[in-house]
Amino acid sequence: MPKYENTDKVIPIAKDNVSISFNKEKCIQCGKCKDVCSEEVTVGGMYDLKRTNNNPVCINCGECVRFCPTQAINEKTQYKKVKEIVKNAEKIVVVSIEKEESKVLTEQLKTKITPEKMVAILETLGIKYVTNLQFGEDMATIEEAAELTKKLQEKPKQLIYFSSWCPAWVKYVEIFYPEWIPNISTVKSPIAIQGRTIKTYFAEKMHIEPKKLVHVVISPCIAKKYEMNRAEFEINGIKDIDYALTTKELIEWIKEENMTISTLPEKPFTAIDEKVNHTQSSEKINKERWQNLLETIYYNITNQDAPKDFTKIKENAIQFPEQLIQVQSRQEIHQAKQILEEIKQGKSMPYTYMQVKACNNRCYQSKSKLSYLNYEVLQVYSNFYGEPLGEKANQMLHTQYENKSYFLGYNRK
Ligand code: SF4
Ligand code: SF4
Repeated sequence: MPKYENTDKVIPIAKDNVSISFNKEKCIQCGKCKDVCSEEVTVGGMYDLKRTNNNPVCINCGECVRFCPTQAINEKTQYKKVKEIVKNAEKIVVVSIEKEESKVLTEQLKTKITPEKMVAILETLGIKYVTNLQFGEDMATIEEAAELTKKLQEKPKQLIYFSSWCPAWVKYVEIFYPEWIPNISTVKSPIAIQGRTIKTYFAEKMHIEPKKLVHVVISPCIAKKYEMNRAEFEINGIKDIDYALTTKELIEWIKEENMTISTLPEKPFTAIDEKVNHTQSSEKINKERWQNLLETIYYNITNQDAPKDFTKIKENAIQFPEQLIQVQSRQEIHQAKQILEEIKQGKSMPYTYMQVKACNNRCYQSKSKLSYLNYEVLQVYSNFYGEPLGEKANQMLHTQYENKSYFLGYNRK
């Protein structure tokens, strides 16, 4: 008796998958999950259940959830556990969330919700501190820029560098293309960087024992439910992230509470560095993360701001002071796979820097100011981490990857 039925139509999902679950009763066998997983994400069809001992392979991207018309495949929720923890007087819950998520709340709750109103809502739910995830994003960009600057300055014959921003893409490489692991940025994801800083620097400043702190991330990303459990995201028994909720879960939680949102007073985000002055920079919020990264590298190399329109890509090439960098942003997994397969057949890699994403979520569309002008981040470097890529930063903000081809039932080098 096979463990999974109708696998020609339905993508098999393990019961212990940390991100998603399957409810057979709701399934109409439309085949959409199998199609997206096989053709777009290119995981379905890349393994054989007979070889994997009936264990489905999954990179936790959540695309099958998005395409399933009946919610037969759905995300696994954690918010009920967080709901219990906020009532525990022994614990202090800190949330990290992007300001942008307030727009999703506005749309879904059909009432205007500013970022500050979102903070008030979270505090009403029992969250003690609400921090802006922009901090972790800017610190991750600065570390990644330092890493890539160093590699460029070594002037290798050919540099190939993949961003590590998407946890599903990182897991994909670990399973299917482990030979490319050395080319992935070692910088931890922004949520882990934010969590590490909260459990160390912030805890010390606020005189809180790190073990009391529970760090909850709220974002659109289902893959973070997997990523938070990576062994490398725990140092001396203290995890960077304790719970990863999606914004959809937050909306469910808010609805359950029946709160009157309109009368809540707006509240500010809690700064990671309490002395920070949030009015320091008047720079416009208009940089995508990859633009931010490249402009930070330019600044690292020249000590000057990049010229206007520096990242206006023509034929995917950006001219740096001594080098031309071939950039591919927002590459989808099936496109990246095609390039990696072509390289196997002898073609050369067309890009120096490639940013790959496994889904269509908002994290790649969010815009920010230039990371190297984030005063709060600079303060935390100066007071705690030291230099980007320095000893402490390396120990706490970088990670390593593992050849996970054993998921396929055999080992590839
Ligand atoms: S989460 Fe992604 S990899 Fe996993 S089954 Fe769904 S589509 Fe496939
Ligand atoms: S997309 Fe949903 S309904 Fe369609 S086959 Fe997959 S699980 Fe069943």
